[in-house]
Amino acid sequence: MTEGQFKALIAGLGLDGGVLAGGGLTVTSPIDGATLARLKEDDGPGLEAKIARATAAFDDWRRVPAPRRGNVIRLFGDVLRRNKAALGRLITLECGKIIAEGQGEVQEMIDICDFAVGLSRQLYGRTIASERPAHRMMESWHPLGPVGVISAFNFPAAEWAWNFALAIVCGDTVLWKPSEKTPLTGLACQALFRQAAAEFGDAPDGLAEVVLGGRQAGETLAGDRRLPLISATGSCAMGRQLAPRVGARFGRLILELGGNNAIIVCPSADLDLARQAIIFGAAGTAGQRCTTTRRLLVADEIYETLVPGLIRAIAALPVGDPREAKTLVGPLIDEAAGKAMDQTLARAASDGGTVHGGGAAHVGSGGCYRHPALVEMPAQTALVAAETFAPILYVIRYRGLDQAIALHNAVPQGLSSAIFTTDLREAEHFLSTTGSDCGIANVNIGTSGAEIGGAFGGEKDTGGGRESGSDCWKSYMRRQTSTVNFGHRMPLAQGVEFDTD
Ligand code: NAD
Repeated sequence: MTEGQFKALIAGLGLDGGVLAGGGLTVTSPIDGATLARLKEDDGPGLEAKIARATAAFDDWRRVPAPRRGNVIRLFGDVLRRNKAALGRLITLECGKIIAEGQGEVQEMIDICDFAVGLSRQLYGRTIASERPAHRMMESWHPLGPVGVISAFNFPAAEWAWNFALAIVCGDTVLWKPSEKTPLTGLACQALFRQAAAEFGDAPDGLAEVVLGGRQAGETLAGDRRLPLISATGSCAMGRQLAPRVGARFGRLILELGGNNAIIVCPSADLDLARQAIIFGAAGTAGQRCTTTRRLLVADEIYETLVPGLIRAIAALPVGDPREAKTLVGPLIDEAAGKAMDQTLARAASDGGTVHGGGAAHVGSGGCYRHPALVEMPAQTALVAAETFAPILYVIRYRGLDQAIALHNAVPQGLSSAIFTTDLREAEHFLSTTGSDCGIANVNIGTSGAEIGGAFGGEKDTGGGRESGSDCWKSYMRRQTSTVNFGHRMPLAQGVEFDTD
């Protein structure tokens, strides 16, 4: 893409080209290492002004009836539909995912907008039978406050949209700190939302603030008492630093952290289905999804039928410029990611693993490209139990489903999981209380990716948070329990007598 084409793309998304230069935050494209922008990071006063704006906007926005709040998200969904190709292209340019996945990310944003619009008329509370005569109990859900969203580089737009669309219909405002590796997508999303807000008419300024910066800006949001909820996506290391800061002020947290997702392939599995899911899961998005398939637990009986074909298929995957239609595996985000992959493969070999694939792929100059790797491991070592954010699939042989489930659960993370089987008992065991310990457990579907309708997130070191569909909206609201006495006596709960006459 020429400089002129890039500027046209940015302008088409409604971004003022003036913001692209003159700052200290250098944004490079992982495709070829080209500098896309030098943005100005938010300093202390700049960040304070944004927090103040979001706080003031909340005071107005919470008073707008929820179905009307839904209207601004309906308009935003329409703006996204019109700009799907352009925003998807910017995502590809800034984080390196292939065109189909960049577009898919925008589609996910559109889907969550649709979901949120419906939700805006369904923020239901319950009524509860009171134990006291002539009393009624009920629950109401009220807007919570300005929400701080901190996101990772690999879903530079959708992670925010999951939070944003729900938070806005719930009556909150959102301060978003995108990854310092993908801030342009953040600014473009904000510019697109401004179009929707202008059409809406009287939305307060400050519904959608974008904070530019790295760890320090994230820490400021985490420590600020004006933000009752912090929703943070990133590595387990980040979560470990952030959680105590939010906890120290009793803030609410949604943590969406690292995964180490496994597929179990049973003797009865449909191996064609399994093969497709494994290859996409391991190598799609260049192994840079939180739900990437990192471990494959294969029944001894079918190991030789499945694994050699996988090795060949993974070796044949086209690695290249993600803007080209034939490419299925794009670049890693940066050189550090490539180095981490190389070091991990070297250590896997010294742990007794047999490494197939990996190594640099020569794609023009400037980007960091690696061939995906499959590593046959003799055991689930400490290395296998850690997440390396790169396309590495460890394959381990198992004997009996109990051993497979024990191996499956014996890692610190608990995000996504899958079993391939046509045996009903095996499938149900995997989904039962003694099966997978993950937030997501699938049967005959891989680990990678999810629909917006369900709650997304995981257990253990993945952080325990849930975002997106189901009843996740409740995290963005304040629950109030009310009891109304419409009688003429004052009975106390639990039959307590306190006679003041
Ligand atoms: P990262 O942890 O390096 O950064 C994530 C975000 O946190 C960035 O915006 C960063 O600036 C910020 N940050 C870093 N340290 C911070 C601190 N101490 N306080 C506040 N903010 C801080 O992650 P990354 O490399 O951008 O993304 C990859 C990781 O994210 C992987 O581990 C992946 O599994 C995980 N991830 C998880 C999910 C999920 O839904 N569970 C989704 C996407 C990515």
